[in-house]
Amino acid sequence: MKPAAITDEMSMQRLRMVDRLRDNYKIADQQVLDVMARLPRHRFVPEAIKSQAYNDNALPISSGQTISQPFIVARMTELLELTGKEKVLEIGSGSGYQTAILASLAQSVFAIERLPNLAELARRRMQELAISNVTIRTDDGTNGWQGRAPYDAILVAAGGPDVPQPLIEQLKIGGKLVIPVGEDRKSQILIRVTRRNRDVLREDFGPCAFVPLIGQHGWSALR
Ligand code: SAH
Repeated sequence: MKPAAITDEMSMQRLRMVDRLRDNYKIADQQVLDVMARLPRHRFVPEAIKSQAYNDNALPISSGQTISQPFIVARMTELLELTGKEKVLEIGSGSGYQTAILASLAQSVFAIERLPNLAELARRRMQELAISNVTIRTDDGTNGWQGRAPYDAILVAAGGPDVPQPLIEQLKIGGKLVIPVGEDRKSQILIRVTRRNRDVLREDFGPCAFVPLIGQHGWSALR
């Protein structure tokens, strides 16, 4: 296939993905659907599996990590209810696909990725796509990013045993944090935490499966 034909094929697959998100998965936030209809997801997966980029599942990226299923990306983004003015912290930026979506819907994104090779690749992709409101750092994101706090929204894309306390502390009053939390390393419940004046509101959005959140306030690296 010629490059132009490949681009057309990818656009068609991308629109089918968005139809599925709206019709089957009931994603209702039009802004989220619009950005996912525009953003080339195939640029965030390894060349060898490019043709699977718009499939209805997570895909391997490298180092045993995954690019999240389109539905879960859409759902987590929708739950943050972004208006375009927010400063967002993302933990576990991986391929950078979710990062790029957040960057289109918020004012700025600070992202932390534990694995340096993934962080570097994601940085390069931001450059290629001319996304300039993202800063990606390599570190243990379970401690948050104190120097840039407080945040209007925090998204954690890996599953931990509980909500890391530093992340709650770095959230503005009224700010929202979305994170998968589970009793074991493989299965979680999607949780949204809204910080209120004196306490937090914790809402449950059903089962999900993420790679483990590894760090001081997450799971240990060994095992
Ligand atoms: N949204 C990403 C998801 C990547 S998978 C995407 O769609 O591509 C989750 C990522 O979290 C992995 O890249 C993993 O390396 C990273 N991760 C795990 N524990 C982390 C931690 N404590 N701090 C930062 N990143 C972490």
